[in-house]
Amino acid sequence: MLMKLKRLTKQKRIINKICKESGTALTPKEIYSEAKKEIDSINLATIYRNLNQLVEDKKLTKIKHALKGTLYEISGKSPHHYLFCTSCDTTFEKPGCGLSTCIEELKEHSYDGFIVQSHEVYIHGICPNCAK
Ligand SMILES: [Zn+2]
Ligand SMILES: [Zn+2]
Repeated sequence: MLMKLKRLTKQKRIINKICKESGTALTPKEIYSEAKKEIDSINLATIYRNLNQLVEDKKLTKIKHALKGTLYEISGKSPHHYLFCTSCDTTFEKPGCGLSTCIEELKEHSYDGFIVQSHEVYIHGICPNCAK
């Protein structure tokens, strides 16, 4: 039992580290292929289970992408948007948010009391690697 607990902790730690070091939001499959380098026996079901636990622990945040599905990233990051390469499917993070004026305006003219909580912005295009 103790062994099992230890292994789980290691898996979680590695998944958390992968998300942290990637610097962008990742799909479970992307996390899986990275995690496999560290733990050869890990499988996708284990990745999903650990991801759900990490989200429950508020270490990771789930976001949705229309094409890629659910992505995971480290919680509590400063505002950022995503650049999504339609050629290689890679998600890049663009720090900062140029939409604050737009959001403030929404808040001021709250549409029938709609309260703005958060937003996700994806910019679709071709990354420098694919544009070469
Ligand atoms: Zn690309
Ligand atoms: Zn923004």
